Amino acid sequence: MNIEPAGGQGGIGQSPVISTPESRMALQNLAAHQKSGLSGVITLKTEELFAMARKSSLWPLTFGLACCAIEMISAYMPKHDFDRYGVVTWPSPRQSDVMIVAGTVVKKMAEPIKLLYEQMPAPKWVIAMGSCATCGGPYVRSYSVVMGVDQIIPVDVYVPGCPPRPEALQHGILELQRKIQDEPRLKRGL
Ligand code: SF4
Repeated sequence: MNIEPAGGQGGIGQSPVISTPESRMALQNLAAHQKSGLSGVITLKTEELFAMARKSSLWPLTFGLACCAIEMISAYMPKHDFDRYGVVTWPSPRQSDVMIVAGTVVKKMAEPIKLLYEQMPAPKWVIAMGSCATCGGPYVRSYSVVMGVDQIIPVDVYVPGCPPRPEALQHGILELQRKIQDEPRLKRGL
């Protein structure tokens, strides 16, 4: 699989489209190709290219459960500018690939949350935002609250706090992007 670097006939000194360890490796490959006469060509494993595309185009499902959801909504406002990470909120599970569970998971909501998760196409990821979604938070040992959303669906990233600030969610999204980018390497056991 070949991709063009920024500026078409780019070289080591030019800004690449991406700035990850993979992109740096790709630029090293580019230097090798230039020496061999294949100027302007970068080689990359398809799985790494797909991971790069996936992490740069995350569509979180828009739904919230309690007070943490207000912080999540605030995080989507222009001040934090999640668009620059390729994060676009989406009001349907059918096209979303990230579920941000923001708020208290009461037992009555457990089944609807599971259903929404199952309606999302794979690959998909889950962020547990706040103490309630992580472990029940202040409602520990409550008769009506699930002690963490990971009791019903798998969670990839936990964002601590009660509530976490938008910057904490931003950090959680960056951690998720790192995890997605590393998935091909981890699958190969590297
Ligand atoms: S973690 Fe705190 S702020 Fe978030 S939903 Fe629970 S009680 Fe509300």
